[in-house]
Amino acid sequence: MDHHSAGEVTAPAVSELDPPNRTLMGPGPSDVHPRVRRAMSTPLVGHLDPSFVELMDEVQELLRYTFRTENEWTIPVSGTGSAAMEAAIGNLVEPGETMLVPTNGYFGGRMAEMARRAGGDVVEVDAPWGEPLDPADVESALAAHDPDVFGFVHAETSTGVLQPDVPALTDAAHDHDALVVADTVTSLGGVELRVDEWDIDVAYAGPQKCLSCPPGASPLTLSDEAMEKVLSREEAPRSWYLDLSLLEGYWGDERAYHHTAPITNVYALREALRLVAEEGIESRWRRHERLAGALKAGVVGMGLEMNAPDDYWLPSLNAVRVPDGVDDGEICQTVLDDYDLEIAGGLGDLAGDIFRIGCMGHAASPANVVLTITALGDALA
Ligand code: PLP
Repeated sequence: MDHHSAGEVTAPAVSELDPPNRTLMGPGPSDVHPRVRRAMSTPLVGHLDPSFVELMDEVQELLRYTFRTENEWTIPVSGTGSAAMEAAIGNLVEPGETMLVPTNGYFGGRMAEMARRAGGDVVEVDAPWGEPLDPADVESALAAHDPDVFGFVHAETSTGVLQPDVPALTDAAHDHDALVVADTVTSLGGVELRVDEWDIDVAYAGPQKCLSCPPGASPLTLSDEAMEKVLSREEAPRSWYLDLSLLEGYWGDERAYHHTAPITNVYALREALRLVAEEGIESRWRRHERLAGALKAGVVGMGLEMNAPDDYWLPSLNAVRVPDGVDDGEICQTVLDDYDLEIAGGLGDLAGDIFRIGCMGHAASPANVVLTITALGDALA
């Protein structure tokens, strides 16, 4: 008997999806290339369909090209950049081991949190927000704490700081037998990154920054040595979903079911990476530098000040100092309302002090740079 027979339930009246047409020049996501959007509207196949298995090989090959690595263990992790980050840290750090993390931005803090949840002990190497790590400080911290794993953020999205001279950090870490994990979320595909040449053991990224792809399948690469450590763990990692020894069954030779891959996101990533390969990775780094350089010249010409000196300026994320007496939130709202343009304010220690203006992937274009300078100039006038 129906106890709710008073009438049929009323379904929510929700109108057809019609998002605003924004230009995305914030800290990510960035504007998605039309070819990537088209790839996402192609039909689904099964995640073990022979056509998809072939496509997985292509994605892995394109990822290796983009990371500049020969690492066999190069895969898209199902989930956002944080999933690839947690796969890296959660598999590499065993309970009771020590991870050295940086304090110079928001994402070093997230590394620490993930290492703790993996059962690790966390030690820190300090630098102020808005500055890179000093290799001498990293060396001292390695000597003092003898960590098993050292993490650093190559492109710190919260501060607009690029960590220069990565080999100085990896050399120091390897001298102390620590494996190196690099956060390359805001550098992959936009800023010079050479995983093999720079001797980075593990790097993870996100697709929604310089690859201009929606979030959902996130690049991860591990050296043989790092993967050996993962595969010889005494205790399984705490996450079943992100256990790389199990994911190996799907992304390795076997191609056996572990979880249902986000097919559409993998399609998108494949197309985004094809665009990287067509442009050429070095040309793409140069385009980011050129277009973000124009953006920088524009904001400086307007009388504003960049937060990072040129030595560690991050082209994909431009931190611009908020002028005295200006409310950054109001300016961001004005450019959103008047120009449909997304830029962002600061986070954490730099909240209220900086605007964060992305220049990433497909969004690193002359038209977007001109629009951003125009809109910001107008809002500040
Ligand atoms: N690391 C850095 C440097 C980031 O900028 C982000 C996201 O902005 C992440 C990690 C986490 O990625 P997601 O937000 O896609 O989970």
